[in-house]
Amino acid sequence: MIPQGLLKDLEGVPLETEASVLRRKSRDYFWYSPVLKRLLDGVQADLVACPRDEAEVVRVLRACHAHRVPVTARGAGTGNYGQAMPLSGGLVLDLHHLAQVDCSRPGRVVCGPGANIAAVNATLRSARAEALRIVPSTAATATLGGFVAGGSGGLGSVRWGGLRAAGNVLRARVVTCEAQPRVLELEGEDVLKIVHAYGTTGIVTELELPTTRAEDWVDVIVGLDRWQDAAMLARQLAESDGLLLDEVAFFVAPLPHDVFPAWRSALRRDQSAVIVMAAPSALEGVLAAARRARGEIVHRSDRLSAEARAGLPSVAEMGWNHTTLRALQADRSITYLQTRYPDLAALERVHARLGDELPIHVELIRSAGAPSLAGLPLVRFSTEERLREIMRIHEEEGCAVFDPHVYTLEEGGWRRPDPLLLAFKREADPLGLLNPGKMIAWDRPDFDFGAGKAFVFSGLETTTAAT
Ligand SMILES: Cc1cc2nc3c(=O)[nH]c(=O)nc-3n(C[C@H](O)[C@H](O)[C@H](O)COP(=O)(O)OP(=O)(O)OC[C@H]3O[C@@H](n4cnc5c(N)ncnc54)[C@H](O)[C@@H]3O)c2cc1C
Repeated sequence: MIPQGLLKDLEGVPLETEASVLRRKSRDYFWYSPVLKRLLDGVQADLVACPRDEAEVVRVLRACHAHRVPVTARGAGTGNYGQAMPLSGGLVLDLHHLAQVDCSRPGRVVCGPGANIAAVNATLRSARAEALRIVPSTAATATLGGFVAGGSGGLGSVRWGGLRAAGNVLRARVVTCEAQPRVLELEGEDVLKIVHAYGTTGIVTELELPTTRAEDWVDVIVGLDRWQDAAMLARQLAESDGLLLDEVAFFVAPLPHDVFPAWRSALRRDQSAVIVMAAPSALEGVLAAARRARGEIVHRSDRLSAEARAGLPSVAEMGWNHTTLRALQADRSITYLQTRYPDLAALERVHARLGDELPIHVELIRSAGAPSLAGLPLVRFSTEERLREIMRIHEEEGCAVFDPHVYTLEEGGWRRPDPLLLAFKREADPLGLLNPGKMIAWDRPDFDFGAGKAFVFSGLETTTAAT
């Protein structure tokens, strides 16, 4: 329930109270996970506030602090783990009005958190022939604030690494949730206090990111008879020092044939595939590597008219979690995992043990200076027990799992508290009102990460029991 005093304090700030809007703005893509769907389906905010500027963000946070009302920030709601879902109800802070874009300085862009990522890139391209370094495959809908606070990497990560790599976020302006909210400027390593923190440590009102030269990326799809050859080609391309690439991923047969209907007539069911986005200057190098690997060039976007290209899915929306989305559109029982394969031998062992139950999709991303194998394999879901077993099998084979079937920062990450985030939260959100339930270290400092039990947020029990 929203206290009357809060509504009075928020007079003049745009608010939404209609039930259908509350429901819509309380959800994200949590339903990718059958586990989260079971746990979070009933979660709902009591109020949505849509501040028009930073001063209104400060007003909302001051009022929520005074009335002890939880606040969950929201961009476009495309996160996958219930990140933007208000587990304790309360107020959803929809930041879409804070969408300013300033690209007056070369090599960097300053944006409001609600700026749509594709719109930022369009502005950058027309003003300075520049682009953001890394964007999620949801760039067409997602916001920059949501990406920085909830995402991890995407197109561009094969070259620039993840969002948390030094230099990929330059500055963040952040409002604290205190009796008198402060506006802080975080720079350098301090930005890690809000990057991928799910809005638990402050509300971002401005971001400064580095930019790079805009390229007219050419999509290339290569079909290969052996999945090992696809994996080696993908790794080789990602390792190539002189090839300017924005995306490299591979799919083990029959995934590409089954999940991408547009390529069904071009790819045999027993063919694996590599997808690449190459700068025009890198195209010859990509084609030469594909020829050496005895790959078949199934698609080259530079060979098609603009009209023909428009009718086909772009590689930018085939990889990352768009693979999962396309698979889910065809088969609602599909879900997915997030993994790291230390090498191809480990992937081979996992594949040998799980076969068709785990259709394999791997993104090549730069990590500590070298390409790494970031898995987003699909899972043919049967039961939650079997899903846990599949994760255990990965771990037995030496592969890390970043569990996408949990809603907390720690369980979805390295399964330990992050002292930097916890210390900053104590300072910036002393009552723990920002996105409650997402940081175990705050809610249950004594939680035993080694005990093999999932964290259950007590506020969530109350919300779901009430619905
Ligand atoms: C099909 C599909 C493909 C995807 N591909 C990728 C991908 O390539 N890479 C990737 O990293 N992710 C990917 N995702 C996840 C998601 O789309 C991205 O992370 C996206 O950038 C999130 O942006 P959003 O505006 O939707 O954020 P939301 O989902 O609205 O929010 C994400 C998190 O950020 C917090 N937040 C939002 N705004 C603020 C703010 N101003 N201050 C503080 N906290 C804030 C929210 O509370 C929430 O915890 C994908 C998801 C789908 C469904």
